Amino acid sequence: MFTNKHLQAFVLSSRDNNKYKVLNFSTFGFDERLMEGISASGYETATPVQEQVIPLVLEGRDIIASAQTGTGKTAAFLLPIISKLLANPSTSQTNMALVIVPTRELAVQIAQHVEGLSYFTSISSIAVYGGGDGQAFVQERKALSEGADIVICTPGKMLAHINMGYVKFTGLQYLVLDEADRMLDMGFYDDIMRIIEKLPQKRQNLLFSATMPHKIREMARKILHQPAEINISISKPNEKIIQQAFIVYDSQKIPLVKYLLKQKQFSLVLIFCSSKSSVKQLNRDLQKTGLLVDEIHSDLEQDKREDVLMKFKSGRLPILVATDILSRGIDIDNIDLVINYDVPHDGEDYVHRIGRTARAAAEGAAITLVNEKEQRKLMAIEKLLGKPVPKAVVPEQFGEVPEYNPSAFNRNRGNKNFKSSSLRNQANKPAGRNNR
Ligand code: AMP
Repeated sequence: MFTNKHLQAFVLSSRDNNKYKVLNFSTFGFDERLMEGISASGYETATPVQEQVIPLVLEGRDIIASAQTGTGKTAAFLLPIISKLLANPSTSQTNMALVIVPTRELAVQIAQHVEGLSYFTSISSIAVYGGGDGQAFVQERKALSEGADIVICTPGKMLAHINMGYVKFTGLQYLVLDEADRMLDMGFYDDIMRIIEKLPQKRQNLLFSATMPHKIREMARKILHQPAEINISISKPNEKIIQQAFIVYDSQKIPLVKYLLKQKQFSLVLIFCSSKSSVKQLNRDLQKTGLLVDEIHSDLEQDKREDVLMKFKSGRLPILVATDILSRGIDIDNIDLVINYDVPHDGEDYVHRIGRTARAAAEGAAITLVNEKEQRKLMAIEKLLGKPVPKAVVPEQFGEVPEYNPSAFNRNRGNKNFKSSSLRNQANKPAGRNNR
């Protein structure tokens, strides 16, 4: 029986969890130009790692954070660094921030993030990694000797430049070690320490690592100064949940939900949407077809929320459309289908949403509908899960569907012409939003 005590627990836990969800980037007091970049990158609310890391970096603290790829950790360190660089621009020829990463792929990816987020600012950046041609080397040498705001590098190539004597670190203020555990696994410890010897003593240090073995803690002791420790651990989904994704066009989503709901008699179906407006729209559309369905989101009065939830829990309401308000903290045993009407913002939300099914001993299914723009988000989630979400065949009656090809859809609109070694080249930047 669902008691008042349960309800109270739900209301409290959903309030707690809302702490993460309502945190808008405006809370951090970022420069208007940076806010434009955030919005152009499609970010609406901060992820948990961003919520925790950004204020500490803005305060000037050193940080050791265990956070995996897919949690939004890149923006968690880039945003406050860009913000501080905008507030105190470099006055001399020096590299200001150094981000050391294990692979060229990661260097390029982070450089693209920098380019996207700082698109409306004059922040300069350069990616320095092995395997480039002579022209890339010349460009890197020029950038490193004139001083870039943000340098993203792999250790070996950076050391090669440093050894040639022209790299300017006199005013360097920020050092980021990303995927530190991987760098140590790849044998970069000595190279990293040699680079660090060349940096000014007084600087802010941020270390990110998916795991925290002893050797990382040892390295942290040598490099960091009284670091704040942050732990964003993501649990893996329950093995009993049968996960599937349908790759579709946006216009096919509502008909597909209707189709899925007719396939068999489910006990309870919970459908998640990322925005209140899509919850309302989908609920209206499903009600029109005669289905017994209702909605729950933060626009509703508390009494109404409790009433809807009670009906759902008791089985009188078999289908509920919800925002992420219901993705955590509620425990209803017999939800046998969760539908993600859209792809959640991050892996953690995905794990929480689909974790509403297959509770207790029951089995459950979790179906995610993915339009073209959401393919990259699904890819990030799959990275976090460490395996792909199986793709279901869309029934023929729905006609043609898109291919699953996430790398074809670049979400950073500002990056289209980005060259990873672009430097202080503001000539190509548009004057403002209207030019995009
Ligand atoms: P990362 O963990 O840094 O590799 O980020 C994983 C993915 O999440 C990347 O595609 C980012 O662009 C995206 N991302 C980062 N922060 C946010 C946010 N606040 N909202 C939505 N997406 C984000």
